[in-house]
Amino acid sequence: MPELAVLAEVTAAEAQLDDKRIELDTLVGDLRRELRQAEAEVEQVRTRRERDEQRLNSGAITNPKDLTNLEHEMQALQRRIGTLEDAELEVMDQVETQQAALDAVLQELETMRAKVADVTAARDAAFAQLDGQSGELTAERARLAADLPDDLVALYEKVRAQYGSGAAALKARGCEGCRLELNGSDLRVIAAAADDEVIRCPECSRILVRTAESGL
Ligand SMILES: [Zn+2]
Repeated sequence: MPELAVLAEVTAAEAQLDDKRIELDTLVGDLRRELRQAEAEVEQVRTRRERDEQRLNSGAITNPKDLTNLEHEMQALQRRIGTLEDAELEVMDQVETQQAALDAVLQELETMRAKVADVTAARDAAFAQLDGQSGELTAERARLAADLPDDLVALYEKVRAQYGSGAAALKARGCEGCRLELNGSDLRVIAAAADDEVIRCPECSRILVRTAESGL
């Protein structure tokens, strides 16, 4: 059934996309956490610099050496803020890039899920059709079996239980069931048998059905 191959294909594609989604989801989560940490770090240094500025502006520090030290510290903190902000921007950029990739995968995943649903529906419809055909064939078989002698039907069922099929055509001097060619003497016996006589394959015991193509 072609629907089954297509279904296997789209299901595999869906699973692959879902793996990608999980991977990107994790990555974006990690990057957002990293971004929050970077923001907190910038905030921490900024607060410290503001505190220094307040101390400087308060006039409480009068010692020139202390004042110089404080100014140096403030300059160092300002440089640190610049470095941290650069890092924060870089993480922010990565978050945007990976979030965009995640959005694209989510879109693809949605499309693929719709496809899986469509193919599943097509498969179910094909199955329903087969069930219908199977029902018709079963009814047809029951009609045909009713017209046949009981012992022939019993023999057919017995061979079928053993070999999977109860009867085979005799075609071009060979049994279509076991695919073996019958020898000359067997063929002569079969050719001489009455039309309503039940012939069986000497190799596999299936009921042999004689046709115009039997080669007798
Ligand atoms: Zn045979």
